[in-house]
Amino acid sequence: MKKIQNYINGAFENPIQNGWMDNYNPSTGEVYSQIPNSTQEDVEIAYQSAAKAFKTWSNTTIDERSKIISKIAQLIEEKLDKLALAESIDNGKPLSLAKTIDIPRASSNFQFFANAITQFSSEAHESVGLNAFNFTLRHPIGVVGCISPWNLPLYLFTWKIAPALVTGNTVVAKPSEVTPMTAYLLGKICNEAGLPKGVLNIVHGLGHTTGQAIVAHPNIKAISFTGGTTTGAHIARVAAPMFKKLSLELGGKNPNLIFADCDYDKMLAVTLKSSFANQGQICLCGSRIFVERSIYEKFKTDFIAKTKALKIGNPLAEDTNIGALVSKAHLEKVKSYIDIAEQEGGTILAGGNYVTIKGFENGYYLEPTIIEIKNSNCRLNQEEIFGPVVTIMPFDTDEEALQLANGVRYGLSSTVWTNNLNRSMHLAKYLEAGIVWINTWLMRDLRTPFGGMKDSGVGREGGFEALRFFTEPKNVCIKY
Ligand code: NDP
Repeated sequence: MKKIQNYINGAFENPIQNGWMDNYNPSTGEVYSQIPNSTQEDVEIAYQSAAKAFKTWSNTTIDERSKIISKIAQLIEEKLDKLALAESIDNGKPLSLAKTIDIPRASSNFQFFANAITQFSSEAHESVGLNAFNFTLRHPIGVVGCISPWNLPLYLFTWKIAPALVTGNTVVAKPSEVTPMTAYLLGKICNEAGLPKGVLNIVHGLGHTTGQAIVAHPNIKAISFTGGTTTGAHIARVAAPMFKKLSLELGGKNPNLIFADCDYDKMLAVTLKSSFANQGQICLCGSRIFVERSIYEKFKTDFIAKTKALKIGNPLAEDTNIGALVSKAHLEKVKSYIDIAEQEGGTILAGGNYVTIKGFENGYYLEPTIIEIKNSNCRLNQEEIFGPVVTIMPFDTDEEALQLANGVRYGLSSTVWTNNLNRSMHLAKYLEAGIVWINTWLMRDLRTPFGGMKDSGVGREGGFEALRFFTEPKNVCIKY
C-alpha cells in the first residue's frame, strides 16, 4: 500500500517513531494509503531544517524567490489532471470540481504571490519640521507554521504557504490528516521547481499531536491557521502566552438573503451551488437561506426541484454533482443534525437520508437536504454543520432580513440577491461579515482582504494583507 512520507529538508522521510495511520477513500470507504502519525520529534526536525534554511532563503533576491514560486505555480498547472484526481480520491469531491476550482486555484495562489511580492513596498514618513525621516523595514518573521483543513486541501494549504515563502520565511506546514495526498505531491513539485532544501517542510499527523507541536513550538513565531472555531480558540490559548503572530480563518454559518426584486433565474442557479458545492463543505457556503415572503413559495418549489435533480455518486464520474463527504465521522456528524430537525420544529423539504451508490456501497454519501425552520434560534440555524444541509425561512422586511443574517456568532461571508442599489449598499454596510457578495457567490479576486468577523476569525489574508502578516514591520527613524 502506498505510504505518504513527511517532506523534510527536501527529502521524503518516515516518521521517527514509525507510527502510521490509515488514509481512506471517502467514495469507497476503503483504506488506500498510509500516512505518518508524526510526533513532536518529527516537528522538531522539520523546525531545525526550516531554521537552517532561513538565513539563505530570507536573503535571496525578490526576483529569485518570485521565479521559484512562479515555477511551482507552473508545475501545478502542468500536473492539473494528476493533482485533481488525487484530490478527488482523497477528499470525495467531484473530479470536475477539483479540476476547475481546487487545483487551478492552488496554482493561482503561487502565481499571484510570486507577482505580488514584486509590487510590495513599505511606507516612508517625513517628519516635517523635525528634520527627521522614517521608513519601514519589512523583514520575514523566521520559521512560521501553516495548518490547513480538509475541505479544499491543496487550495487552502497553498493559500498560506505561498505568501509565507515569497516573503522570505521558511515553513513547517501540516495539512489535515484526512486529506494529506496533494500536500505530499506538492513536496515533489517544490523539489522539481528548485525550492532550496528546508525552505518548506510538510509534516503529516493528527491535529492534537502534530498540529499542537507546531503551535506550541517556542521558536515558530507565527501561525496561520484555517479550520474550525473551537480548534482556533484552542490554538489562540496555546499561542497567546508566547505572543505569536496569529491569523485565524475559522468557521462560518453564512446567510443568503434573497429579495423579490432579484434576477430570479441567476439567483436560483447560484443558490444551488452556494448551498451544495463540495457537498456543502466550503466555509463560504450559504447555509442559511432567507427569502422575501412574496417569492417564498415559488422559491421553495423551484429550489426543491433543482436540489432533487442533483446527481449524487462516484466523484470521478463526469456527471456527478454531489460526491462523498470527507469521512465517516463527518458524515455521521452531519446526519446527526438532520436527525434533530423534527425535534426543533423543522420540516425536511428535500433529502435527509444516507445514499447507497451501486458499486460504492461503503462510501460516505448523503442527500442534499433542505430544512424549513420556524425559529432562527434553533441549533440547525445557529451551528456550523459543514455539509449538504441548508435551512430556509421567509422574511418580510429589510430590517428583519438584516437581523436574521446577523443573528449568529459567525461572520465569515454573506450573499445578497437584489437589484436595488440602495438596499445592497445599506446591507453591505451593516452585514456582519468579512465578505458581502451581491448578486454573486464565491467570486474571488486574490487582491482583496479575506477573513471573518466575530467567531469566524481574526486577521485577514489575501493580497498585501497576507504579505503584511508574514513580515515584521520595523520603523527606522533618521534625524538629520
Ligand atoms: P479542524 O479545526 O478540525 O482542523 C483544521 C486543521 O487543524 C487540521 O489540519 C487539523 O488536523 C488541525 N488541528 C486540529 N487540532 C489542532 C490543534 N490542537 N493544534 C493544531 N492543529 C490542530 O477543522 P476541519 O479540518 O474539520 O475543517 C473544517 C473547518 O474549517 C470548518 O469549521 C470550516 O468552516 C473551517 N474552514 C474555514 C475557512 C475559512 O477560510 N475561514 C475555510 C475552510 C474551512 P487534523 O485534521 O489532523 O485534526
